[in-house]
Parts: sequence; C-alpha cells; structure tokens
Amino acid sequence: MDGRRFAVTNPATGEEIADVADCSRDDAEAAIKAAHEALPAWRARSAADRGAILRTWHDLMIADEDRLARLITAEMGKPLTEAIGEVRYGAAYLKWFAEEAERIYGEIIPASAGNTKIFVSREPVGVCAAITPWNFPSAMLMRKVAPALAAGCTMLAKPAEDTPLSAIAAAKLALEAGVPPGVFSVLPCSQPAAVGAALTESDLVRKLSFTGSTQVGRRLLADCAPTVKRVSMELGGNAPFIIFDDADIDAALEGAMASKYRNAGQTCVCANRFYVHRAVHDQFCERFAKRVGALKVGDGASGGEVGPLINRAALDKVIRLLDDATRRGARILTGGAPIDDRFFEPTVIVDVPPGSAILEEEIFGPVAPVIPFDTEKEVIAAANATPFGLAAYCYTRDLGRAWRMSDALEYGMVGMNDGIISAVSAPFGGIKQSGMGREGSRHGIDDYLEMKYVRMGGLSA
Ligand code: NAP
Repeated sequence: MDGRRFAVTNPATGEEIADVADCSRDDAEAAIKAAHEALPAWRARSAADRGAILRTWHDLMIADEDRLARLITAEMGKPLTEAIGEVRYGAAYLKWFAEEAERIYGEIIPASAGNTKIFVSREPVGVCAAITPWNFPSAMLMRKVAPALAAGCTMLAKPAEDTPLSAIAAAKLALEAGVPPGVFSVLPCSQPAAVGAALTESDLVRKLSFTGSTQVGRRLLADCAPTVKRVSMELGGNAPFIIFDDADIDAALEGAMASKYRNAGQTCVCANRFYVHRAVHDQFCERFAKRVGALKVGDGASGGEVGPLINRAALDKVIRLLDDATRRGARILTGGAPIDDRFFEPTVIVDVPPGSAILEEEIFGPVAPVIPFDTEKEVIAAANATPFGLAAYCYTRDLGRAWRMSDALEYGMVGMNDGIISAVSAPFGGIKQSGMGREGSRHGIDDYLEMKYVRMGGLSA
C-alpha cells in the first residue's frame, strides 16, 4: 500500500465520515496472488467446515446488526429500518449458502460402454472477483461472497467508491468468523478502472461477478473476453408496474409504494413505469399522489422515510428526466423539485407522452410516471418494449390473466400481486440487457462451480 486514502461522505449531510485506504493496481495484484495462494487449502476443507464458518459469520452479523445498519445509513442514506432489513437480508445469504455447501452433488451416468463408469463432480471455479454497487453496499456483496466461499472459491471484492465501509466491516467479521486470510479480501478504491483492469486481465481470476449499471457491465464483459472468464452480470432494469381494472387497488397501492419509494427509488428492481387501466387510472393516481405526498423526506438516521440521492450526478439525472417529461406535456401531481441539493421530493407524474426519456431510462430516484392503458395486448407490448428485462410487476385478480401475464412479460422476475420480490430462496437475476446468471436460491451456487466429467475405464478384473 502506498498510503493513499480517500474520503467517505454521508450523502444526507455532506459530512465526511471516514477515510479509507485507496487500493492501487499493485495492491489488487498482490491481493489476487494472496487469493490464489489461499485457494488450495480453502477448497480442500470439507463443505461442512466451510459452512460452519459461514454460519458463524452470519451470527456475528446479526449480533452486530445495529452497528452495521448505522454504517449503511451513514454511507448511503437509506432509512435505518431499511438498513436493518438489508443487514438481515445479506446475512441470510451466508446461512443459506452455508447449507447449500453440503448439497453440492455430483452424478453417476450410465456408461455408453461396458467396463466403464462415467461420473461428474462439481468443483470450485477458483479465484473470483466481485464488483458491487452503492445502493445495497452490504447485501449485494453478501449475495456474491456467500456462494463463492461455500463453493470453495476465494474472492476479491471491489465495493463502490461511495460506500466502501460496509464491505470493510464485512471483511473484518469474516476474519473474526474464521475465514482464513486471503480467502476474502476487499479492495476499496477511488480508481475503479485501474483495479477493475487488474481483476479482469488476470489469468488467475477465473470469474467476475458484477452488479451495477448495464453500461459498466458491457465494458467489463468485453474486458473479461481475452481471458475467457466466467461472468455473472446483475445489471440495470426498467421495471413496468401494471395495474388492471380487476386488481385489488388497496394492495396495488401498497405494492407501488414499496416498490417505487424504497431506498428513495434507488433499487434495480424499483418500478420505473406505472401502467394503470384507464377505468381505475384517475382513482389510483389520486390515492397514490396523496400517499406519496405524505412521505417524510430526510436523513435516514433521524426518521426520514425517503433519504437522499447518492450524489449530485444522481440528482441531476432525476432533474433531467423530469424536465424532459414536463417539457413534453407531463403533469406533476405531487413533488417535482430537489431539496437542499441532496434529496428529491417524492413525485408522481401523469400524461407522460410515449418516447419520454423517463420511460426509457432507469430513473433511480423517487419519481413515478403513470400511464393509462386500455387492453392487455397493448400493455404487454408497452411493458416489453425495452432492452431491459430484470423485474416486472402486475396486479390482477383474474387467475387466467395472472398466468397469461406471467408468461408474456419478458423479465427474469415477475411480482404478481406483490411489490417486493427479493428472497434468499428465489433466483434473482435478469434477461436481455439486464444481465446473466442468478443469485440466491439453490441455483446461486452453480455460478461458482465447474463440472468435471471423469470417464473411468478398464474396470473389469
Ligand atoms: P455502476 O456505476 O455501474 O458501478 C457499479 C460498480 O462498478 C461500482 O463499484 C463502480 O465503482 C464499478 N465500476 C465503475 N466503472 C468501472 C470500471 N471501469 N471498472 C471496474 N469497475 C467499475 O453502478 P452504480 O451506479 O454503482 O449502481 C447502480 C446500478 O446498479 C443501476 O443500474 C442498478 O440497476 C444496478 N443494480 C443492479 C442490481 C441487480 O441485481 N441487477 C442490483 C443493484 C444495482 P465506483 O463506484 O468507484 O465508480
């Protein structure tokens, strides 16, 4: 380490809350070497042994959840209650994959010739790298490191520059839980391209798991091509939230509030566009705007329900998207303005013309555009008219329609009559330009395992 450091700022107050070591490319290369050296001993341990360490790590996180939640709120601004939820959600991946470690089964396949056996075993991929975003600084990391370590891989993680503190706290707890040095390392840095290049160019790193924007994901995919790395990509979304006239409007309203305004609208699965059947459009909008207008904006550490946007660029993006929509004729029902250069008023807009940028780009802020529709066919076409395919939501009480919509929506995840879809036991991930690979569920560990087929001949006496 050359002693360089960078500052971490609380986005709700602008106050500098810490400064951390700024890893260079050389540091990243040294960490890759350490992860490579730690690999043989870690993969040789029994699955039960690795699982026990992950379970201890889980217990340490839960015991320390208050401090960890405060750290999340301080570095990225979400309300404390949401931060506690994030710590528990992240820790749950440790417990889940501690158990999955013991279920990494192989197979025996009937051989095509006598005197022969065919068997398949599943082995850890090797040294893995994780690059994570700022919006869930703890959970996005746990979702990667838990399956990686459970599978017998070692991992290097580069957190977002805005939010390195939760990742550093995770690394400390990992050591305390018994994860050997070198098995899991965190590389906070202010130069993502340099550290990213060390990770993508290294032949020792056999896999990259990235969560972040589609733009950066595309670039990392290209950077991983020369060394033919395995990749998992959890990228951006443009989630439609559809409400039919037969829906339970109270439930749809609850779902809309949770899906749109959680984390100030800064989640990859946040509803980005609301399509509401014309027969219930006005009634829904009126109730929605009333609820949204009553949300308390402020520092998540002191009771704010909608916290700050992560930085100035995020605020500017929301302002640009809203300006474009209103210039084209959209009407603001509630909200519509920044507060103190850090927050944005929870906003609902209607009469949003097709082609508005706000319907095509990820908003990542507390603004909900609502569009009326008339037919199922029309809303399916509108919902699918995007290069993204992460999450979609639909509210209807018609069973046949619920199935038709589940089939028709071109998304990796569909919330049918539900506004919150993340669950440790379910496969999280997108299709189209929202990425590849799945995190969580019994499938999540597959991304960290290679299959090896062994054909054993000459068995007769
Ligand atoms: P981002 O700008 O793509 O950054 C994500 C991570 O990539 C950060 O750690 C960033 O570091 C790093 N990075 C940026 N340029 C890099 C480079 N050239 N080489 C290596 N690393 C680089 O995304 P974000 O703004 O942090 O996060 C928001 C995005 O993440 C949204 O699009 C959201 O939808 C997506 N997301 C997706 C999921 C999912 O599961 N699908 C979950 C959460 C978020 P710096 O911070 O230092 O720039």
